[in-house]
Amino acid sequence: MRGLMMDTPLLVSSIAEHAEKFHPDREIVSVTMDNPLHRCTIADVMTRARQLGAALAKLGLKQGDRVATIAWNDFRHLEIYYGVSGMGYVCHTINPRLFPEQLVFIINHAEDRWIFTDVMFVPLLEKLLPQIGNVEGFVVMTDEANMPETSLPNAVCYETLIGAESADLEWPQFDERTASALCYTSGTTGDPKGVLYDHRSTVLHAYVSLAPDVIGLSSRDTILPVVPLFHVNAWGIPYSAMMAGAKLVLPGPKMGDGEALYNLIESEGVHMAAGVPTVWLGLLQYCEQAGKRLDALERTLVGGAAVPRAMIQAFRDKHDVETVQGWGMTEMSPLGVTNTLKAGLEGLSADEKLDLATKAGRGLYGCELRIVDDEGNELPWDGVAYGALQVRGPWVCSDYFKLDGSAGTHTDDGWFETGDVATIDKQGYLAITDRTKDVIKSGGEWISSIELENTAMGHPAVAEAAVIGISHPKWTERPLLVVVRAEGQDLDKDEMLAYFDGKVASWWVPTDVAFVDELPHTATGKVKKIELRKQFADYAFPED
Ligand code: ADP
Repeated sequence: MRGLMMDTPLLVSSIAEHAEKFHPDREIVSVTMDNPLHRCTIADVMTRARQLGAALAKLGLKQGDRVATIAWNDFRHLEIYYGVSGMGYVCHTINPRLFPEQLVFIINHAEDRWIFTDVMFVPLLEKLLPQIGNVEGFVVMTDEANMPETSLPNAVCYETLIGAESADLEWPQFDERTASALCYTSGTTGDPKGVLYDHRSTVLHAYVSLAPDVIGLSSRDTILPVVPLFHVNAWGIPYSAMMAGAKLVLPGPKMGDGEALYNLIESEGVHMAAGVPTVWLGLLQYCEQAGKRLDALERTLVGGAAVPRAMIQAFRDKHDVETVQGWGMTEMSPLGVTNTLKAGLEGLSADEKLDLATKAGRGLYGCELRIVDDEGNELPWDGVAYGALQVRGPWVCSDYFKLDGSAGTHTDDGWFETGDVATIDKQGYLAITDRTKDVIKSGGEWISSIELENTAMGHPAVAEAAVIGISHPKWTERPLLVVVRAEGQDLDKDEMLAYFDGKVASWWVPTDVAFVDELPHTATGKVKKIELRKQFADYAFPED
């Protein structure tokens, strides 16, 4: 017997309608290319999203057509999220930091019909133009006064495009399984792969993320997503913040600027900020050097890479800011786990709480987890057994765009292979030990590169650290620690290695340390281990 409940579709436009009705006056503050502090309201953004929807329809777009963005976080980008998806088109967010050949691949593979771009990426697109000939036109996200001269064909000014439309549009209704957004993984191996979100997955993911034990958003919050709108939909914040009616502060091109972030946090009263660890390193360094304290901030959501213990401690002890670690992937919309305290653990000491906070987090409703051995047998949740991490749920991808199962990333029983290796403890807290391809196997036993990196980063003279496996005649592989010293700091190999004493098992201690000026990073700010391994391809451990 079927239940007797209404079947209203979970559409992105329903979030727009809700936000506009219940939270019209909530502010959206943006740093844009043409304004250092632009202020508007949710009502303004949603009205303009409808004008944009009407303009897009006039361009002859059909449901499912891809419309791309190459832009920083600001109110216009937010309007495009709603204007494009709300109409049933697919909002394809592109990371401008990708290599030109990756950009060309992605734009052509996605078959983007129009591209919305910030002024600063116009020259980049002009260069790519001969290789992206199928794009029909470009919308430059600015007003007439700031519209640049450009050789891009059909280049339109954003304000002119939407200014010509009325806001009378009613969002169309369609199946909630219709594609809403497209985001390519950075593709550190092989070509980038497209993850195609749908309206249902997007709404469910945003809904769950509001819960107090997940991101915990309310209408009283002010949120600063430093995670870019082109990185897994800024972890869903453009949707969840609008569902909650929170105030949004969008840092535009100032993502990597510690001082600018500090000023935004303090002047706008930001309670929660979200971003990858490298961003917070910049902010913490600025605060340290300038003798500033983060007074307004209550918590940071940090993920995308392992969060160093030293960072969680600095936030806690120097700024009284709680760090909520999260783990997920582009393929998972992205939230898989978040790290909040479970009932029964309140009595842990401050140090034990810090240890717990370095784990990726615990399961949230809607995303199932399991770890398996090489034969696919499920491993126990004892915090010791580690294995390949697999996930399943309504906001996990079932395939990649136009790859028809050829990526081989799903098991026969319908789980997604994350490519991460993890332990899960009795309480359900997940700890990522490595990417499958980064695992170091020494004498048949696994060594966690993430744990070694985390430990090294706790040394005050270390700015950044990465560990890679190097072949070893006796142990097959041993860890090499690659370190960037903090500015003006002296640190030698012996002092670095001595620092590991008592912090990790003695046989885990790296065999050697190499000091470098900088580490290679991916477009999303993670250490690019593939590149690092190439740099050290000819390296051999000193003979004992
Ligand atoms: P990209 O492909 O752009 O690097 P993702 O953001 O999808 O994109 O990367 C997901 C991967 O990042 C995960 O599979 C995992 O290896 C790593 N990661 C994310 N969060 C964490 C975390 N909290 N701890 C350790 N690794 C993490």
